[in-house]
Amino acid sequence: MTAVPGRLRMTVLGCSTALPHPDAPSAGFLVEWDETALLLDAGHGVADRLGRVADPRRLAGVVIGHMHADHFLDLAGVRYLFPWAGGASTRLPVHLPPGGRCRLDDLASAISERPGFFDDAYAIDEYDPETALSIGPLTVRFAPGRHYVSAWAVSVEAPDGARVVYTGDTGPSETMIEFARGADLLLVEATLRDAADDDPERGHMTAAEAIDLARSAEVGAARLVHYAPERRAELDALCSAAGPWIRPAVPGMSLTVSRHIGVVGAVGAVMPASPSAAGPA
Ligand SMILES: [Zn+2]
Ligand SMILES: [Zn+2]
Repeated sequence: MTAVPGRLRMTVLGCSTALPHPDAPSAGFLVEWDETALLLDAGHGVADRLGRVADPRRLAGVVIGHMHADHFLDLAGVRYLFPWAGGASTRLPVHLPPGGRCRLDDLASAISERPGFFDDAYAIDEYDPETALSIGPLTVRFAPGRHYVSAWAVSVEAPDGARVVYTGDTGPSETMIEFARGADLLLVEATLRDAADDDPERGHMTAAEAIDLARSAEVGAARLVHYAPERRAELDALCSAAGPWIRPAVPGMSLTVSRHIGVVGAVGAVMPASPSAAGPA
């Protein structure tokens, strides 16, 4: 674990889309406070990157925002770190969205494993999005995304009040703006090249829409996530025009987050941290 004592830290494990890419796994973000480490999403490719920075068996929990492969499939990979047969001595708490339990049971069957395969290693529950979860010293809250299936944005608040909000997959949404309002760090999805490529009901955002959402929410700092890595330079140019507080996320980037200051330190990242205490102009 790499957490700075008494500071919230967020490490990008993966921030690509569902399309496999050699440089970037799909969605996975490690949030740490002292010895408490929480994984937000576990898309394909994330288990490998997680193993480089933390022992997955020692996580305080995993929170899954929605049950698309690029957000939960590596729960299967992590499972094999635990004994195949018999219960693990300590099970990893896995918090699934409503309806997720049945999807995970179906996944066990789909990969030719026995019923209860995941339960032997994971303490599985379905969270109530209306109710905050306490995971060690961290408080986790939820808000609905605007997506093709039920999807939830996640807010993680530390004891000092520092707050990271992760939109998960969502189209433009007033609800999301309010949920993210005043966050010290916002991880905001920027999937689309063009809004015209989306379903009319909307389920993702362009980078311009993501930047608008972050600006409207008056966050301290923001990082674009859920984008194709080959678009990074294009997204960086768009972000640069918006100000230093917003940049594309990069796998391996580790940000220290402080209340009302936003990002105060960055490791392993090529992008500058936010210097602003007042949020975006
Ligand atoms: Zn999705
Ligand atoms: Zn996705």
